[in-house]
Order: sequence, then structure tokens, then C-alpha cells
Amino acid sequence: NLSTTLDRAFKTLKGQGRITDINVAATVKEIRKALVDADVNYKVAKTVTDKIRDEAMGRKVLIAVEPGQLLVKIVHEELTQLMGGRLQDINVKGEPAVVLIAGLQGSGKTTFSGKLANYLKKQNRNVLLAACDIYRPAAIDQLKVLGQQVGVDVYAEPENKNAVQIARNAIQFAKANNKKVVIVDTAGRLAVDEQMMREIEEVKKAVQPTETLFVVDSMTGQDAVNTAKTFNDRLNFDGVVLTKLDGDTRGGAALSIRSVVDKPIKFISTGEKMEAIDLFYPERMASRILGMGDVLSLVEKAQQAFDEDEARRINQQIRKNQFNFDDFLSQLDQIKKMGNIKDLVSMIPGVSNMMKDVEIDDDAFTPIEAIIKSMTKKERANPDMIDGSRRQRIAKGSGTSIQQVNNLMKQFNDMRKMMRTMSKMGTGNEALRNIK
Ligand code: GDP
Ligand code: MG
Repeated sequence: NLSTTLDRAFKTLKGQGRITDINVAATVKEIRKALVDADVNYKVAKTVTDKIRDEAMGRKVLIAVEPGQLLVKIVHEELTQLMGGRLQDINVKGEPAVVLIAGLQGSGKTTFSGKLANYLKKQNRNVLLAACDIYRPAAIDQLKVLGQQVGVDVYAEPENKNAVQIARNAIQFAKANNKKVVIVDTAGRLAVDEQMMREIEEVKKAVQPTETLFVVDSMTGQDAVNTAKTFNDRLNFDGVVLTKLDGDTRGGAALSIRSVVDKPIKFISTGEKMEAIDLFYPERMASRILGMGDVLSLVEKAQQAFDEDEARRINQQIRKNQFNFDDFLSQLDQIKKMGNIKDLVSMIPGVSNMMKDVEIDDDAFTPIEAIIKSMTKKERANPDMIDGSRRQRIAKGSGTSIQQVNNLMKQFNDMRKMMRTMSKMGTGNEALRNIK
């Protein structure tokens, strides 16, 4: 399963201080393997992982983000791009608009036709379903049942064996009956064959569809991509419908199709019920494939809240051994901006050590802030001047005890020492070091 393999790959990186050539190379190799295992075309997998590597090497590690998590973010972005970047809607403007449904037998064309009719009807469009599968007697009945279920008229000519004629007549019927969208359900074979291809080509020529959709079963993996290519060469379709995504599918088809045929996926089908239809959002699909929605939003939050200039300034303060209470307050503010403190504190180097025995919630910082705010400007900038009597005054002013003030002073001094040592050794706080 793709997300498990990726998960393992990301764990390799977790805890490592920095993205380097070595750990990225190993992780990227794992990601490539995971993609190929998930039926992603090898060339596509190589292209995308090369991009992921370049992207990862080019980015700085943010203070609050572990490299593994940043890599997840990069992978997510690249997968989203690979699937077309953004939502592509279908075009149903016309008098009437004609949507031609093509694909192999059993791919889910008839089911999808019913779903699309239902979807468009809910947008208050007057829809007509046209039954142009003339090879299986049950096909017309199947579409009629679905039509009835969703409350959409079905045009059929059970005696007629000419799909092109039926399609033409359906459009005439639509014009005469004020139908605004005609969905043309067609026949499919078990494998691509010449007769079927010619027939659908002729139907297309005859009805001049506003939108030709290629329906493909996502469970067929690499075959889905090959079939898409064959159909696209003959039909030059406008979009893809991926069906049966409710099953245990590996998602590889979704990833490969776009780059192989350069046509967007427009809908996904996730069940047999008429409501099981969704627009295709590349970003959501990437999250689903990664199975890591939570990690992503955490990384995004951290990136939004993190102020690089401020980090650079604080880093200089540390180097000059001038880290003071104003800097400390500014760091606390950054942490608070990120939201859920419990989740985030563990990701902040230095602070996480200080806080590890503290029951952390949003209130945990309140006494600390109160103490610092009761210091004078001079005291905040020069912590060493805060002697016993000043501490007593600060405790009174902030409504805390002298012990609490002493504790904070001790922790603060320890932290300063640690930061100073780290910046001298040039190791440890990689995040700060990477920001030049
Ligand atoms: P067609 O031959 O291309 O018209 O395919 P059908 O619409 O007749 O569907 C073939 C089978 O797949 C039927 O049993 C459908 O109920 C089923 N099917 C279609 N779409 C989906 C889907 O999204 N999920 C699942 N689980 N089954 C589907
Ligand atoms: Mg059918």
C-alpha cells in the first residue's frame, strides 16, 4: 500500500536534523519504489521523484518542521501537480450540451451516466439520458432503471441497431423537449477493438459533443493508463472519469493518467449508489494517497506562522550572546501563533526540552509572560542585572511567587548557555543554523 511505504520512507528521515544529499537520495529511492508498486508508470515515477529531490534540496529546513514532514509536504505538492494541479470542471453549455461517455465494458459507464444525470439535475439542469449501447439487451433497461431512480428521462430505441442514428435522434428529441444536457451512454467491449473504436468515433462525429469523457476502472492499474492512451489517440477526449475508487485501489492510475495522456481527471466514482460521484480535486487525491492529512496541515500552519526574519534576528542575538527576554517573548509569540501548543511545542528545538515536564496547554505560558512583562525594558534587554530585590518586585508585579521567578531565571540562563554552546559548536540547532 502506497501510504504505508511512503510512511516508512518518511520515518527514515524523521529526527534527522537536516535534509542532505544522502538521506534525500535514500528516501527518494523509497518513494519511487512505492509509486511504481502502486502502478505508477516508471517514467512518471522517475520524473516526479527527481523533482521532489531537487525541491527538497533547495529548501531550507524551517525551525518548527522536521525534515521528514517537510518532505511529505514537497511530495504532496509534486503529486498534486502530477494530477493536474487544480480542479477541472466539465463544460455543459450548449443547446443542448452533449456529454459523450466512452470506455471499456464494465468500466462503469452506465452507472456514471446515471450519476452525472443526477449531479446535473441537482444543479437544476434539464437532462436527458440517451441509451446507445445496442449490443447488450439489458443495457437499455439498466439505464432506464437508473433514469427512473434519479428522475431523469431516458431516450431509447430498442429495435434500432444503429448507435449513430439513436444518438442523433436523441439530440433531436432533446431540442424538441427543452432538454439542456444530453448524456450519451455507449457500448464497450471487453478489450479495445477496431469495430468499437470506429463506432464511437462515428457517434462522436455525429453528435459533436461539448464534452467527451473517458471512463476507466481505477482497479485495473497500469492497464487503465494504456487504455486511456488508446482511447485518447482515437477520440481525443476532454476528460477522464476514474471509477471504483471505493475499493482497495492503489491510486496509481490517478497519478499516471494525467502525464501520459495530458488530459485532466474530472470526476471520480466511489460506489454503486447514485450519489457516489465527486469532482476530482488533485490536492485531495494527493492527501488521500499520502494518507497524511494531519501532518500536512501541521506543516502548513508552522510555515504560515513562522517568521524567517525574526528567526534570523534571534540567531544573531544568540551568536553575539545577547539573547534576552524580549527575544524569548518573541519566540513564545511565534509558538502561540501556530495554534495547538501541545502538538507544536514538541517540534521546537530547545523549547521542547524546557517544556517536557510541564503540563502544556495555552495557559502554560501565561505566568511566564506575566513575569517577563513585569520586567522593565532595561531588565528585559539585560537579564544579568536582575538581582534578588528586582526579582521580588517582579514577582509582586506579576502576581507570581519568588520561586516562579527564580525558576524562570534559571531556565532562561540554562537555555542561553545551551544556545551559546550549540552555536559555538555549530551543531544541534540545525534549523537556526540553516537560516543565514
Ligand atoms: P459499463 O459496462 O461501463 O456500463 O459499466 P456499468 O456501469 O454497468 O458498471 C459495471 C459494474 O461496476 C456494475 O456492477 C456497477 O454497479 C459497478 N460500478 C460502477 N461504478 C462503480 C464504483 O464507483 N464503485 C463500485 N464499487 N462499483 C461500481
Ligand atoms: Mg453500460
